[in-house]
Amino acid sequence: MPALIEAHEVKMYFKPSGIMAGSAPIRAVDGVSLSIARGETLALVGESGSGKSTLGRVLLRLYQPTAGRVIFDGIDITRMPERKLRPLRRRMQLIPQDPYAAFNPRIRIGESVKEVLEVHGVARGEEAVEKVVALFERIGLVPGKEFYNRYPYQLSGGQLQRAAIARAMIVEPDFVVADEPTSSLDVSIRASIIELLEEFRKRIGQSLLFITHDLAVAKLIADRVAVMYLGKLVELGSTEAIMENPLHPYTRALIEAIPKLRIRARPKLRLKGEIPDPRHPPPGCRLHPRCPYATDRCRKEEPPLTEVEKGRLVACWLAARS
Ligand code: SF4
Repeated sequence: MPALIEAHEVKMYFKPSGIMAGSAPIRAVDGVSLSIARGETLALVGESGSGKSTLGRVLLRLYQPTAGRVIFDGIDITRMPERKLRPLRRRMQLIPQDPYAAFNPRIRIGESVKEVLEVHGVARGEEAVEKVVALFERIGLVPGKEFYNRYPYQLSGGQLQRAAIARAMIVEPDFVVADEPTSSLDVSIRASIIELLEEFRKRIGQSLLFITHDLAVAKLIADRVAVMYLGKLVELGSTEAIMENPLHPYTRALIEAIPKLRIRARPKLRLKGEIPDPRHPPPGCRLHPRCPYATDRCRKEEPPLTEVEKGRLVACWLAARS
């Protein structure tokens, strides 16, 4: 399948501010290459602080990367000025982690969604209102007219996340970044939100980057999984291959932290400590201070992301050898 969105050696560094001003840059994304095919769902997983959300925003060109290239539908958008990007913005949408952040608390939900249609020149006035009400009805915000006139505080967390999804989907984008869209919701509501995203993906044929720290959620929705650690990709492959046979110690640790995903025949793998400061990533393999298998080589040489079988990439000296 042809790629809709591609990242080539993308880096995103931030200058620290406040009392940290002047210190080393925060290397949120540090040389990531990946692509997402049309109609594909790629789950981007990793702990908090691994750079997932930043990468998602770079792919949407909400951030201009420090280095590397971003290609959308064959067009290099890396340094494209906002004026030229505008017509493409309709085709690329973000569903934020916190649905409350997607809405102005003083504006009715329906008006906020309608505004997206108007900004992108898709519909105006009564026609736009009708489109919003119809979409609300379709995604379970019923009666649609009543929800149109409600304010954000009058919706539950699950209802507001549905409205945030409507805000992104109303313009039928080709590429959607969903940034932890279920993490603030009750377990009982998560499945229905995932079903809703799946329904849109199938109907519109869109490409979805689903950002999550939870591999159990990734398993439900993704065709492929990309695992990120401290600004780098460490493993990439089909969801089935990653879940059944994780090759990178970091991926194994993420899977084994979820009881229902644990492969019981294997000894449990626990990582030591916390994710390090992205201003000062460890030399060699970035996981080495936490990895129980680390050798001298791991401490000195950085393992490249290597294709170990078709479509399966791993950045680990141990995995590349086996
Ligand atoms: Fe662990 Fe070494 Fe593999 Fe890094 S390269 S994950 S430290 S075994």
